[in-house]
Amino acid sequence: LEEQLRQSQKMEAVGQLTGGLAHDFNNLLAGIQGSLEMIGTRTRQGRMADVDRYLVAAQEAARRAAALTHRLLAFSRRQTLAPRATDVDALVAGMEELLRRTVGPGIEMEVARGPDVWAVEVDPNQLENALLNLVINARDAMPDGGRITIETANRALDKRAARERDIAPGHYVSLSVTDTGTGMPPEVAARAFDPFFTTKPLGVGTGLGLSMVYGFARQSGGQVRIHSAVGQGTTVSLYLPRHTGGAEGHEVAPLDAPGEAV
Ligand code: ADP
Repeated sequence: LEEQLRQSQKMEAVGQLTGGLAHDFNNLLAGIQGSLEMIGTRTRQGRMADVDRYLVAAQEAARRAAALTHRLLAFSRRQTLAPRATDVDALVAGMEELLRRTVGPGIEMEVARGPDVWAVEVDPNQLENALLNLVINARDAMPDGGRITIETANRALDKRAARERDIAPGHYVSLSVTDTGTGMPPEVAARAFDPFFTTKPLGVGTGLGLSMVYGFARQSGGQVRIHSAVGQGTTVSLYLPRHTGGAEGHEVAPLDAPGEAV
């Protein structure tokens, strides 16, 4: 039954994906068609001055359509996870330079490490991708500058805290990225994880960032949560399951739920 559920969720995601792609692709095709029509009209009228402009527009739309299908292919081919014991703070420290260069000089970036943060069980490459995506989103939400805070903390979630976060009770490390940017209105927050949902201009946003972060978190046995207030900013928190292998010493039983593994 679980496998069926997983399969149907997968099909749903594929449906959303192809639906979103078809929509964006259609828009681009409409642009190309419109440009070609204008080229035809202007050519017949002998008004060649504008023809070049429409040619460039058609070429640009075709280029974007090609990029879109490339991204779809990359998305469907995305790597399988290779989870292992991972030190989140070390991973963040290793990326700090890259992240600072990515956000640029107009944005302050602060890293706040929690005390004695547990090792987590995730694919470190995918976690790097996820963090980069979150930081890019934070940057994009602050065109006039601001502050990004990357924070780690140990989280022991009891039944209630876990239910609130739609996750199994147990031990997690949270990795959150907070910005002082535009924030998301509720209708954007509700769709933010949908594949191909984007409010950014075509060619800038792919709408795949958060959907990949979500897929990574869920497949890792974790979760991702958004807290956002329009005009104030956004926090996106990843919950990553604690590594409970031999090397870290004894395992800690999940809180309140002996049956559910972390
Ligand atoms: P993309 O960044 O390509 O648009 P994402 O899936 O990463 O795709 O994000 C989807 C949408 O969610 C964005 O277009 C934006 O509207 C919103 N969003 C994501 N992160 C933030 C953020 N930190 N602040 C405000 N809005 C955000």
